Formats: sequence, C-alpha cells, structure tokens
Amino acid sequence: MLFDAGRGAVDGIYSARVRPQDVTAIFLTHLHNDHIEGLPTLWMTPWFLLGRQTKLRVWGPPGTRAMVEGMRQMYAHDLEQRSNTVLKREYLDVTVQEITAGRVYSEGGIIVTAVPVEHHDGNPAFGYRLDAGAHSVLLTGDATLSDSLLTAGKGADVVISNVAAGSENIERSGAIAPVLAKLMLPEQAARLFATTRPRLAVFSHIVKKGLPGAAGDGIILSRTRKAGYSGPLRMGMDGMKITVGDAIRIEHAQSRRTLPDLDGPGAVFARPVH
Ligand SMILES: [Zn+2]
Repeated sequence: MLFDAGRGAVDGIYSARVRPQDVTAIFLTHLHNDHIEGLPTLWMTPWFLLGRQTKLRVWGPPGTRAMVEGMRQMYAHDLEQRSNTVLKREYLDVTVQEITAGRVYSEGGIIVTAVPVEHHDGNPAFGYRLDAGAHSVLLTGDATLSDSLLTAGKGADVVISNVAAGSENIERSGAIAPVLAKLMLPEQAARLFATTRPRLAVFSHIVKKGLPGAAGDGIILSRTRKAGYSGPLRMGMDGMKITVGDAIRIEHAQSRRTLPDLDGPGAVFARPVH
C-alpha cells in the first residue's frame, strides 16, 4: 500500500527494500502534482522491468479517474505497442475508486478510512486513517487543521502531519501567506497532537521558507512545543521506517551502497499486500 505517489516514488520504494512490483494499492490524498507525478513510473516501470502481473488499484478524490485516463493517454504509445505475450497489456489496467468520506478499504485485517480535509486549491482532499488489529496511524495529507482530523486522530498510535512555516520575516511579509493558509502551522499541529495524544507524532511534507537545515527544523519543533504539545515528536526523514507494535520502533534509512540487491540472496522483502 502506498499513500501518495510523488516524484521518485519508485526509487523510494526500492530504497526501502520493498519490491516495486508488489506495491499495487495506491491511495491518493489529492491531485496536486507533487503527490501524483510518481504514479506513471510506478504504473509502467515495474510492469516492463520487474514483471508485475497485477494491475494497480488507485483510490483518490473525485477527478482521479480523469487523471488516470490522462496518464494512459500520455503513455498511449507503450500501451499500444509495448505489450506482448509476456508483458500483457491487461496488467496495465488500473482500477480507480473515487472516494468519499468513510471506510474505503477493508482487506486482510487492514481498514483504511478516508477523512475529508481542507486544502484550499488542492480540494477535494483527504487524509487517511489506517487500522490494523489494535494499531492505527493517521495521515493528514496536505491540510490545515480541521475538526475532521481532530476526530479521526482519536486513539491513533501514530499521527503523521504535514507542516509549513517560514522565518519570522517571511511570515510577517505575507510572501507565503497562501501556502500557510492551506497547510498545517506548527501551532495547529500542536493542537492536533495535544488533542489526539498519539504514542508518536511525526512531521512529514515539511514546507520551510527561510528555515534551513537542522536549525530550521528546531524552530518548527520549538514552535510546536511552545504551542502546548509535549509528547513524542519527530521530524520525518526520507527513508525513515516506523514499526508500530507494542513498542514503536524508528529506523533511519541505510546508505544505498550497503543495501543488498533486491533479487540477491541477502534481500529482505516486505510482505506483499494485494
Ligand atoms: Zn497539496
């Protein structure tokens, strides 16, 4: 299962030691380009390079069907000419489900619930809550704070929130006001985390202007603390792996040079989810 498919999605999946051909259930939060532009590669490359024989299933907001149709138009050449008796064209079929609020997926003990959120020029937009057994994760997607997120995050083990902030000067100038209006300020995230009280809060989709590097991260974290959240909190990093169980384990990405080949004897495969 993949939640949003931004640029480099296939590379990220591969680096995470998950076989790209096993990632066939994709849930989109909204249709902004930075959340969908990895989809064509995920659709096409595991098919012709890695022998995927399962068609993709895509869940997304209204408009997703037209977007997928447009993607198929863009790749019409390959659709028409590249398939053969091994690389079958039917494996490029895509099942699209345009979602509304509520349960959108329930398979193998995993339940996915779509949460309507507010993202201004990205609407209609959704967050997602995953429940598996006794554990759960809330993803805000791109969104500002809303009652729907405060409600959906109740009881979640992990809450993963977007965040956006600028330096004092930049915020005062109004230069990024339209961006800040559609995303989560650190102070709003503090309210989300303090209300839902997760075992771990994580920032992802981190938008920073004039707040470079670790010092900038520190300002975002300290604004969140000052606004009243004192529980566990991490900045998300590319390749970070969070295991949610009786304990919550966080592992950082390994260097690519130390990773085994995916098809080699030392490969560690994630369990495929179909
Ligand atoms: Zn967006």
